[in-house]
Amino acid sequence: MRYAGMQLLLSDIQTDPSVAQAVPAMTADGRCVRCGQNLTIKLPIGLRYCPVCVNLGRVVEGQSLYRFDAPKFPPTSSLTWTGELTPAQQVASDQLLKSVQVRREHLLWAVTGAGKTEMLFPAIASVLDAGGRVGVAAPRIDVVRELAPRLAQAFAHTSIGVRFGGAPWPKHDVALTVLTTHQLLRYYHCFDLLVIDEVDAFPFAHDEALMYAAKHAVKGSLVWLSATPSKKFITTRSRWQNRVKHLAETLSWSAFASTQAGLGEKSQVAKTITDSVVDAVKISGHHASGLVICAGYRLVGADHQCVASTIKGRNSKCPRPR
Ligand SMILES: [Zn+2]
Repeated sequence: MRYAGMQLLLSDIQTDPSVAQAVPAMTADGRCVRCGQNLTIKLPIGLRYCPVCVNLGRVVEGQSLYRFDAPKFPPTSSLTWTGELTPAQQVASDQLLKSVQVRREHLLWAVTGAGKTEMLFPAIASVLDAGGRVGVAAPRIDVVRELAPRLAQAFAHTSIGVRFGGAPWPKHDVALTVLTTHQLLRYYHCFDLLVIDEVDAFPFAHDEALMYAAKHAVKGSLVWLSATPSKKFITTRSRWQNRVKHLAETLSWSAFASTQAGLGEKSQVAKTITDSVVDAVKISGHHASGLVICAGYRLVGADHQCVASTIKGRNSKCPRPR
């Protein structure tokens, strides 16, 4: 089905809309059903419309949104990537996979260059193999354009679609969709796994409509990726905060020791790691640290060899903290 999993205005639809479920596009009290916001403006003809998501076509009261089913695909064996994860990446990847299997929200917190995309592959494969649908969303078109060919290579036999403003409309159904976060507003209960990359980045971090869209586009697991999740993002998820706090207490390495050992001065990557540790400690409110990849609900402690190999994909001679 061409529009599987989407919710569209009648003007968007070029096939028979009767196969879709029509729902009111605006509630009686003026809340836009597509973006969840309640900031209507009145048209000269007296009807209200939603200005928040108007760039995807105007939602006017009295209109309908047409929601299309998202049927399963046949089971398959999807992953064609033949690379290997480092031990630290494997730990993070395993935790992520576990969350996806139990349909749990998950934060993969890792510095830039840590290989977040590759760590996602087993979880994505588990959903695709079962005939499910996966969405990978990023705030900016350039990130979508960069991600799509990497995913197409890793899942070479999987149908993949790319969605962003101005891109051609889908011509057929796809199992893996790479899209901008704004395009999530056009999906409803579609994805068995939805990954949101750069959740800390503009515009996602400041846009309640996009957060609403993410939660409504998914029907399975929601996975957030970030190098620098904001304190607000963490603290609004009290379960995460408690886990981060608990694990920060139990980690043995010190970010401040790392800095004293000169690691932060020798390598920008290491400095980024150290900054992330400090952020984690600040968020957790404790002085213990360690770190490097914060995966899911827990920080994964690792020594510097492990850190360096995670980041660089090979062993390193980084000094140990004193
Ligand atoms: Zn709206």
